[in-house]
Amino acid sequence: MKGSLILGKVGGVRIEIHWTFTLLLLWVLFSTLKQGGDTTMVLFNITLIFVLFLCVVLHELGHSYMAHRFGIPTRAITLLPIGGVASLDKMPEEPQRELAVALAGPAVNVLIALLLLLVVPLNAYRGFTTEQWEQLLAAPSREAFLLYLLMANILLVVFNLIPAFPMDGGRVLRALLGFSYNRSRATDIAARLGQGLSFIFLILGLLFNPFLVIIAIFIFFGAYAENKMVQQTFQLRGHKVREALLTDLTLLQAEDPLEKAIETILKGTEKDFIVVRENKPIGILPNKTILEYAQAPQRPIGELIKTSFPCVGPDSDLEKAIEIMGHHQQKFLPVLEGETLIGAISSENISEFIMLKAGLAPQAT
Ligand SMILES: [Zn+2]
Repeated sequence: MKGSLILGKVGGVRIEIHWTFTLLLLWVLFSTLKQGGDTTMVLFNITLIFVLFLCVVLHELGHSYMAHRFGIPTRAITLLPIGGVASLDKMPEEPQRELAVALAGPAVNVLIALLLLLVVPLNAYRGFTTEQWEQLLAAPSREAFLLYLLMANILLVVFNLIPAFPMDGGRVLRALLGFSYNRSRATDIAARLGQGLSFIFLILGLLFNPFLVIIAIFIFFGAYAENKMVQQTFQLRGHKVREALLTDLTLLQAEDPLEKAIETILKGTEKDFIVVRENKPIGILPNKTILEYAQAPQRPIGELIKTSFPCVGPDSDLEKAIEIMGHHQQKFLPVLEGETLIGAISSENISEFIMLKAGLAPQAT
């Protein structure tokens, strides 16, 4: 994710922290000070946040471990102030597998909560008066720390299992619906419910907690985007790369100046380019790079190209091509027939293909 700091790798999965996380720390700092907390209290709360987010990382690793068992890699786990996001290449399509992946995250927090129950002396707290509870929770003690952590893990389980797609509970719901409906229909129902619930979160958030507002927005747009993607992929089923092939391409040479790409963009509709030597692709010049270096139009293209890139064949499934695009975070792929470059495929063109196909054959959806 953009604006993230890489913390390290666990089992091949990149763990990142988004810059907005610092806002959470500032918020904790200020609200602690506002309540009259001293340095010890600030340290207590900040440590609690870090340990809590460690639990969130373990939760996400639960998802990625289960996905890995089904052969699906995880690109990264990103920590945001509202929680973690595991970027899996895709969700498994089989309902029972999706169910397992969706439940694996909350299961980790159940496990942590059970372990905490071994050290939290709940029996000793039985019969505590409100005053005693307040005293216990207000002091920066080991007991309070463990109790907060226990409550937070229980809350993580409960909150994540609310059926607001694309949260875990929503994925569980889609998987369960998947036993009776096809994936397209199951996703549509789950996404609509998710969007409905996001309005409730929004109202509660506006009344009580600003973080809920952010979560509501996240759910609303997340459900919309994922539903759209699933519907598109569903419509692509059975179609081949050849059908959405871009053949009118301007091929560039490594020696060409960047200017040539800029001029081509301005003249037509091309955005990304293939750089060739003797009609063999040697690199990709993505639109992003062109915009980035537009101030240096004399730079030879060869210095800017991406030299490691995936290619697809004309008879590959379009669905597979989209999967490759997602995995490599590259929306433009050269298409090779044997060794020969015959064209390219872009996510934009696939979208157009879907719109045209859907318009031509509404009964196919
Ligand atoms: Zn989760």
